[in-house]
Amino acid sequence: MQEADNFKYLLEQFGDIKIMRYTVPGFEELDINKKRLLYFLSEAALCGRDILFDQNFKYNLLLRKTLEGIYNGFAGSRESAEFSEFVVYLKKIWFANGIHHHYSSDKFIPGFTPAYYHELLKNTPAQYFPATETITLDQIKELTEDIIFNKDLAPFKKYQNDTDDLLRQSAVNFYEGVTQKEIEAFYDAFKKEDDHMPVSFGLNSRLTKKDGVITEETYKVGGLYTEAIEKIVYWLKQAVEVAENETQQQALQLLIQYYQTGDLKTWDVYNIKWLQDLDSLVDVVNGFIETYEDPLGIKGTWESIVNFKNLEATKRTDIISANAQWFEDHSPVDPRFKKKEVRGVSAKVINAVQLGGDCFPSTPIGINLPNADWIRARYGSKSVTIENITYAHHQASLGSGMLDEFTYTDEERRLAREYGFIADNLHTDLHECLGHGSGQLLKGVSPDVLKNYHSPLEEARADLFALYYMMDPKLVALGILPCEEAAKAEYNSYIRNGLMTQLVRIEPGKTIEQAHMRCRSLIAHWVFEKGAADKVIEQVVKEGRTYFVINDHHALRSLFGDLLKEVQRIKSEGDYAAGKQLVEQYGVQIDPKLHAETLERFKKLNIAPFGGFVNPKLIPVIEDDVIKDVTISYPDNYTLQMLEYSVDYSFL
Ligand code: ZN
Repeated sequence: MQEADNFKYLLEQFGDIKIMRYTVPGFEELDINKKRLLYFLSEAALCGRDILFDQNFKYNLLLRKTLEGIYNGFAGSRESAEFSEFVVYLKKIWFANGIHHHYSSDKFIPGFTPAYYHELLKNTPAQYFPATETITLDQIKELTEDIIFNKDLAPFKKYQNDTDDLLRQSAVNFYEGVTQKEIEAFYDAFKKEDDHMPVSFGLNSRLTKKDGVITEETYKVGGLYTEAIEKIVYWLKQAVEVAENETQQQALQLLIQYYQTGDLKTWDVYNIKWLQDLDSLVDVVNGFIETYEDPLGIKGTWESIVNFKNLEATKRTDIISANAQWFEDHSPVDPRFKKKEVRGVSAKVINAVQLGGDCFPSTPIGINLPNADWIRARYGSKSVTIENITYAHHQASLGSGMLDEFTYTDEERRLAREYGFIADNLHTDLHECLGHGSGQLLKGVSPDVLKNYHSPLEEARADLFALYYMMDPKLVALGILPCEEAAKAEYNSYIRNGLMTQLVRIEPGKTIEQAHMRCRSLIAHWVFEKGAADKVIEQVVKEGRTYFVINDHHALRSLFGDLLKEVQRIKSEGDYAAGKQLVEQYGVQIDPKLHAETLERFKKLNIAPFGGFVNPKLIPVIEDDVIKDVTISYPDNYTLQMLEYSVDYSFL
């Protein structure tokens, strides 16, 4: 990817959030039909924004519109510290698609007082507020004040601790007036034991109880959210007209049909067709998909990612997939636990063109869909790495000071600058295309026997497979790694992160919970300990600062191999006790002294730990009612984009 050096990737920071932007290399060179297709799909991606706000909490839209009204109409001073706090609060709400933090799910606490809120309300003319026949201006003022300042009102988006009813404390708007028990009973009634193709019951609806009767309000044309869904369907219909081939066209038609009927069987048929669409350059994710935000894991939040294949980078994943059997055969794992026949995963590298709904502004860097287990087992899944997003993350981090602060030698910094980005991407490719798909269970071992330790161990297995092969001469021979130095760069950053820098995401006194973080900690601490006698990795303290330095990268590789062998054994044999021991001993605990030092050093750098993006802007060039071209530009003002979206794409 080539951009002018002065392109600004990092735009601004507020609270614990940084706002970046991403570029779309190769867009200008696309033919006009693909540009039209990307434009129509991008419009569809923006039309569902309000849906997500409403799904997250029933008063999110009312509050957002009220605050935007104040932002636009407030006649008082905009220079005061309190007004700045008000703006930060509004920026956070845009970022989280609601009043709760996108990651922790806690309600934001504003940096201004109720008295100042009164001042804002008083000095904003009435026409700026979203009063309607159903809600008066006075009611809006009273209700929004309560939402912002009442600590007991909707304190969490999603309540995650043990309780008899997860919903009572969760603000999400997927249910109204029903208890967890009633919901579970409602959906269990649909499930049949001999159903080998179960639809995702409840995925696209809100469940309510009115007059004692439980009813589903389905998200569809003519149903809940129809105003937004009709717009999505309008743009999808335009997209159908310029589809690249018949498979893609049929897939888009099925998606439209699903939005029109709300029929979950159609959703499955659509997903299968979408999986079969492998030849198209352009692709899209659009729908009610991930269920992370529902504490019960039933309801899907709306999201969209519009993208096209990065042909150059996909050559890399093609080579890896084509050689999958070689990697399996040569791994250090016990032959009994190896796959005799490996099927390469269908993986591609893509560039995002537009992000929407639950993928915006905070966005994943890789996706693997669809979610339905039986479809995955029978038809496989699409695994993608979003390279222009990882590239933007990388560029934005370069000037952050993180590297200078936590690396010990100039050599380490040079390797990171020169090879960090490609080595990191290759690690992800190996992890996704090979790592997760490698190995096999012994006969009779159930896949869920590792229980809560399954996820960190599974991630560790995939990471170790990638790490072990990073330094194999085979990668250079295949032409997917430039030289051994690049592998060293990856080892350096992995160890630095696993032993130290990832701790910046954890509050003092807490332990490591998240599966990927446990995996990295487990691997790094295990090899650190096992290689201690030979000083494979050395802990160095200089001027009160701790560093971890790798003295022997080849010895480290063989330690990665040893641990891969053991983790694969644990999985293949279903050895719960050994798995638990490994995770608990190396993956969970944090040295409080090192943690405090890391946080202290990180704080001085003033870097926000969470990040998200501003979207590119696509504009059609229309002559005689025909789209002759589509231009792309990269806005650099987050606030303006949010306000623009609230005007142009607010349908609820
Ligand atoms: Zn993984």
